[in-house]
Order: sequence, then C-alpha cells, then structure tokens
Amino acid sequence: MKKALIELQQISKRYDLPNQANVSILEDININIMEGELVSILGPSGSGKSTLLRIIAGLVSPSQGLVLYNGKPIVGTNPGIGMVFQSFALFPWLTVLENVKLGLQNRLLREEEKIRKALSVIDMIGLDGFEGAYPKELSGGMRQRVGIGRALVMEPDILLMDEPFSALDVLTAENLKRDLLELWTEKKIPTKSIIMVTHSIEEAVYMSDRAIVLSRDPARVISDISVSIPHWRDKQDSLFTSLVDRIYSILTKREIKPIDTSGDLKKKMEKVPRVPAGALTGFIELIDDLGIEVDLYKLADQLSLDLEDFLPIVEAVQILGFAAIHRGDIELTDTGHQFANASVLHRKEIFRAQAQQRVPMMGKIIWVLHSKSNNKMEREFFVEIFEKHFGAEEAAHQLDILIDWGRYAELFAYDEKAKVLYLEQESAATMD
Ligand code: ADP
Ligand code: MG
Repeated sequence: MKKALIELQQISKRYDLPNQANVSILEDININIMEGELVSILGPSGSGKSTLLRIIAGLVSPSQGLVLYNGKPIVGTNPGIGMVFQSFALFPWLTVLENVKLGLQNRLLREEEKIRKALSVIDMIGLDGFEGAYPKELSGGMRQRVGIGRALVMEPDILLMDEPFSALDVLTAENLKRDLLELWTEKKIPTKSIIMVTHSIEEAVYMSDRAIVLSRDPARVISDISVSIPHWRDKQDSLFTSLVDRIYSILTKREIKPIDTSGDLKKKMEKVPRVPAGALTGFIELIDDLGIEVDLYKLADQLSLDLEDFLPIVEAVQILGFAAIHRGDIELTDTGHQFANASVLHRKEIFRAQAQQRVPMMGKIIWVLHSKSNNKMEREFFVEIFEKHFGAEEAAHQLDILIDWGRYAELFAYDEKAKVLYLEQESAATMD
C-alpha cells in the first residue's frame, strides 16, 4: 500500500480586508498526495494555486484545516519540502555552486560535504562546467536549472514547483521538462513526490500522474483526474488530446448564475476577467470566422495562448453573453453573431446593453453617475466600494477593466488626468 505523504484536510484560507470584510481564497480543500506521484495543480489565474503550495510548504498558515506530512500535522515550515519558483530567485552575486549550496545552509554538514553534494546535483541537472558562472552569464533555462538544483540538493521528500517553466521559451521549457521527467521516472533523485502548479494543460497531461483542477473565488477542487498514460507520452496521441480536451471543458465551464437586476449594493460582486474590450471584439470575430462550433483546445493552440491568457477571454465572452461553451467547444450566441457582423456603432450599442445588464458592477457605476446631479464621480470612490469585495489591488484592476469596457461602449467617459468618470451630455440626457 502506498502511503499519503501529504494530506490536506479541509483547508480554507481567508484574507482580511478593510471594514471587517474578508475574502475567501481557498475553501474546503481536501487532497492526499501519495508517494510516487507527480501531481499537477491547474486553475485560473488568481485562483489560489500559489497560496495552496505555500500552505503545503508551511510558509503560509491556513485559516482552517490541517496539513499533515507523513501523518503528522506540520508545525512551522514543512521539513520535507524543496521549492522551485517561476522567477528563478537566484542571488546574482553568488556563483552557480554557491547558489545551489544555499539549499544546504541550514544543514549541519561540513563545508566539503556541502560542496560535494552541490557539485553532484549540478552535474545531474546538466550544468557541469558552469559551477563558477554567475547567474547573469546563464540563459533563462540554465538559471531555472540552478533553481531546481537548489531545491534538489536538499534531497526533499516533496518537490514543490510553482509554474517552473512558464518564464522560459517553448524549446527551453520542453528540454527542461524532459530532463526533469527523466530524473523523476528513472529515480535518479530521492524525491518521493512532485507537486507542480502549471497553467498549461498540455504540460500537466504530459508530465503528471494526476491533474487537480481548482475553481476560483474561492478555489475548490472541481476535478481530480488521473493520467495513466505510460511515459514518454505522445502529444498527438488521441488519448492524450482527449484528456487535454476534457480538462479544457472542466476549466471553462461556468456556473449559470441568474442576472442580478436588483441593484443591491451589498450583494456579492463577481469579478470581471481582465480583458480589454479590443481583445474581446477580435476574439468574437475570430470565432465567427471559424464557423459554428470551435474546439477550445485547438483554438488556444492556434492562437498560441496558454491558459493564463486564454481563460480570461473565454470567461469574459461568456459573462457578456456573446458565447457559450458546451463540452469544450465554444459557440457564439445570437447576440455574439449579431455583434460579430455589426457596424462599429451598432457593436458599441450591443456591448453597452450586454455590459449594463450582465455585469452588476457596471450597472452600479452607471447608476451612481446618473444619480449625481453633475454626472461625475472620482475613480477613487468606486475603488473604495470594490475594495470591500476584492481588496485594494484587485479593486483597482477591476475598475480599470470596467472603465475600458465602459468607454468602448460609450456608457461613460473618463478623464485620465483628473481620474474622474463622467457622463457625456447626450448620454446623461438620453439614458433613462
Ligand atoms: P494563483 O497562484 O492561482 O494565481 P495566488 O495564490 O497567488 O493565485 O492568489 C490567490 C488570490 O489571493 C489572489 O486574488 C491574490 O490577490 C490573493 N492574495 C494573495 N496573497 C494575499 C494577501 N496577503 N492578502 C490579500 N490577498 C492575497
Ligand atoms: Mg501563482
């Protein structure tokens, strides 16, 4: 019987916001990571993947729930963990050898022993001959090898990797994935389990034994899919592509929520994806050109977009009612068709109607501007309202997107210098 190395029991994470409100990031996460498993964690950007990894590492404490390592709750940082980050986090003034050796700084080993271990890891990760080089002399791929080396030199039971390949160009990333997979499958490293956050579905299916899919706002486990294709996997194989396709459908499926027309200011507000109107119109035209139903997986591939960039667009067209997703295929709605084939002015009208009806926050902005006798309001006013729901940073992003949409749809105008939203004369007079 394989045993569970890591057990996450009912993990929740909330962050406190001003005004006693709090934002829930993770909710009731229950995951067991077994010995011998390489597990991928997938989810929309900002869903809480990095937070979850940090909780497993003991760097962030959960608001509720337990992390067990080898059956015992962790206290402080998890001793069995080595961590690899997206941004390589190397010290520029240290050589490759010194950077790798840093992984052993808390070990009670003699200096020669540390050097011996570090050199052996450097050899293993393919950096033999670069021991004395400084990070700035290395390519991105080599720097990430150093990052991985620094984690591996600790001989951790569990290797946690947070989007380790996403800062690398495609070929370099492929190369590094293969090398790492070889170390893992041929048991050249003593690591018992790897947990990897990625926003590439293909990468998850290529590398892992299990793909765990998270929802967002808050993150829950919405799917836990086992990938039992033997290595090395062929990305053209039909079993491979059908799994990729399946995960795409899971990630892009939205709960259908009734449209809120009550104008209730306290109601939970739904975040809008950070996609400018210009990108949306282009995307809708493209789907219209491509025909009736389009396979999302192939579309993302054709556009060379990874999830991080692709999911928000897909989500935005759904929120605005321009497209619907069925089983991993995207199809324009009637409104979407009309939009794709309309004149510029008519497009703005359609967008205006959709945004006002379907995006509660947009409805609130318009309502406020109409209610004020001068039809003006400072940006900061809205940021403060949204802050209670999303926190300061996200509130600013949300308002930026709403301003972009609102200006495109000519719902209101925006004075960038004065940071004021206002209704132009005609819209103030004609609307309502
Ligand atoms: P992911 O890695 O999936 O992109 P993260 O785990 O980095 O997501 O973040 C999840 C959410 O938690 C984000 O909305 C982020 O803004 C929020 N968040 C992260 N750290 C804090 C914090 N210290 N205070 C408030 N919110 C935070
Ligand atoms: Mg992250």
